[in-house]
Amino acid sequence: PSVFADVVQAPEDPILGVTVAYNKDPSPVKVNLGVGAYRTEEGKPLVLNVVRRAEQMLVNDGSRVKEYLPITGLADFNKLSAKLIFGVDSPAIQEKRVTTVQCLSGTGSLRVGAEFLARHYHQRTIYIPLPTWGNHPKVFALAGLFVKTYRYYDPATRGLNFQGLLEDLSAAPSGAIVLLHACAHNPTGVDPTFEQWEQIRQLMRSKTLLPFFDSAYQGFASGNLDADAQSVRLFVEDGGELLAAQSYAKNMGLYGERVGALSIVCKTADVATKVESQLKLVIRPMYSSPPIHGASIVATILKDREMYHEWTIELKAMADRIISMRHQLFEALRAKGTPGDWTHIIKQIGMFTFTGLNTEQVAFMTKEYHIYMTSDGRISMAGLSSKTIPHLADAIHEAIT
Ligand code: PMP
Repeated sequence: PSVFADVVQAPEDPILGVTVAYNKDPSPVKVNLGVGAYRTEEGKPLVLNVVRRAEQMLVNDGSRVKEYLPITGLADFNKLSAKLIFGVDSPAIQEKRVTTVQCLSGTGSLRVGAEFLARHYHQRTIYIPLPTWGNHPKVFALAGLFVKTYRYYDPATRGLNFQGLLEDLSAAPSGAIVLLHACAHNPTGVDPTFEQWEQIRQLMRSKTLLPFFDSAYQGFASGNLDADAQSVRLFVEDGGELLAAQSYAKNMGLYGERVGALSIVCKTADVATKVESQLKLVIRPMYSSPPIHGASIVATILKDREMYHEWTIELKAMADRIISMRHQLFEALRAKGTPGDWTHIIKQIGMFTFTGLNTEQVAFMTKEYHIYMTSDGRISMAGLSSKTIPHLADAIHEAIT
């Protein structure tokens, strides 16, 4: 018998498992609204033109080799990534108070940041929003942090529970880490307003709570890279410290290339240097150094004015298509006279709509309409098209009536 005979079958990942079930379904009308990946109007994955161009340039550059990157990754990529999130004129960058390391997409950046905090920060409790991306609690707990939640979403309004959020953060122990979604909160699509961000900032700074921003959708929420980084920049402007995890999965469509960055903004350049030296000790035994290809694509695009511009146009087109799907779905439900208030579909932003459909309704839609989504009723707007919207509207209508 196998020495592993006692290993028990683990459940599928709640998000990736949706795609596994979808792939097994032979129905020609099936729709996958589970995974957060952009699809074209034809339902196809999209490689941005500017990414194809950058790859071509990299292939044609005969001087490029496949040597290891340093532990912290591609230096150009790190500098440009910091500028992208904190702004080109960020004083924190000019004062060399920011250390940025290339990591394995958003997930790897969160994990490296969390491992660093578990080793070197005095307060090991992290508060995450309720609900949040399903991987967050696991990433932080396995890194050695204690995970607690703060109220975020109000099912009654399908909006922000701002009062609950303020109460829970006020009650958090001084110094606690707080995970904040920079924009396009996943799974709810509900973000604080700018004024609310400012209140959150004041509260957190007065209680010395440490912000850890997760920025997986910069440019994807509004179509504008600067607008979607406002929350983070607000916290940098006050001179305080914070962490930020960036992903290029969605905004450059580099999902499988696993390109991301962790930045830690410190009070002084001296502290930033020491912090970076410790980040290297976190990374080296984990995977030695990050992969070169995806980061080279990003650096090629970010450092060239014309390619950067092309990227912003393609990014805006993706964001606009998602926003248009929101309007089309909302209109389709209105046209059918589906009972209830569906305005949250157009109010929420980013890749997902938190529909408010319950587990039974989701199961019904999967069984009868072959529509796949996570059981919390989250649908990926990026997986919809003008062709599939009527089918989804029919399914929602029947599920709730
Ligand atoms: N944070 C959030 C909120 C996300 O939605 C995602 C992607 N689903 C990530 C982080 C990380 O994704 P990746 O590791 O693919 O960059």
